Amino acid sequence: MIIDSHCHLQFPQFQDDRAQVLERAREAGLSAIVVVGTDADASQQALALAEAHPNVFATVGWHPHQAAEFDDEQRLVLRRLAESPKAVALGEIGLDFYRRLSPPEKQRTVFQQMLDLAGELRLPVVIHSRDAEDEAFAILSGWAAQVKGQWPQERPLGVLHCFGGDLALALRYVQLGFLISIAANVTYPNAHRLASVVAGLPLERLLVETDAPYLTPQSMRPQRNEPSFLLETIGRIAEIRAQTVGEVAEQTSANASALYGIAQASASEPAEEREAL
Ligand SMILES: [Zn+2]
Repeated sequence: MIIDSHCHLQFPQFQDDRAQVLERAREAGLSAIVVVGTDADASQQALALAEAHPNVFATVGWHPHQAAEFDDEQRLVLRRLAESPKAVALGEIGLDFYRRLSPPEKQRTVFQQMLDLAGELRLPVVIHSRDAEDEAFAILSGWAAQVKGQWPQERPLGVLHCFGGDLALALRYVQLGFLISIAANVTYPNAHRLASVVAGLPLERLLVETDAPYLTPQSMRPQRNEPSFLLETIGRIAEIRAQTVGEVAEQTSANASALYGIAQASASEPAEEREAL
């Protein structure tokens, strides 16, 4: 059981060979893939993929890079998309003060509007936070306090996608009710800080993701990333934690299932159903 908790299979980088990419993912043992939206079009395309493949799920969101283009009309479009049964989360949303492709003030407004929508629809959130650590944490703390009362007890509030902070910050997020998602940058030779995050958190709080087509694992660089490459990241996490690949794969998949409300296919199900990816 392996779940890629975050990728962008709807992006044009996959337009020529999406079917083969899905086939390689299945062969690599992936049981589900979550395709993440970044604006209205990308969210709609993620949902179309999810509707075409039983074990593909979608999130609906608006990336902080595109915040400048967000308006009330887009908010209504996203709201409608987020009500689809295969929309499993709101995201990716957040703040990016590293590339600053949209004005910070607009990023904050869009982030808050998306969080309000997630609270209203009781959907977990997929967070992108770069060079905005303290502010993103403060905003999410406020949101967590608001929604906690109506949230199912065991269900995480969301995930910090492609986590780039230190262990202290990761632990604060875990305390708040969030999961921490590890991407293939953990396979890079200089990933010491990320390795200490991986070693220091309970496995029950970790997710794995490819963020494909971005962030190709070390041995596959510089080609395009894809979900079947997730095994290298899982292998590195297992090595850092001195656990087996099977333990890391099983537990991170269970965590992703709990976050996104995805029912896990069990090994006892007929092969045809498990091959549906
Ligand atoms: Zn992403």
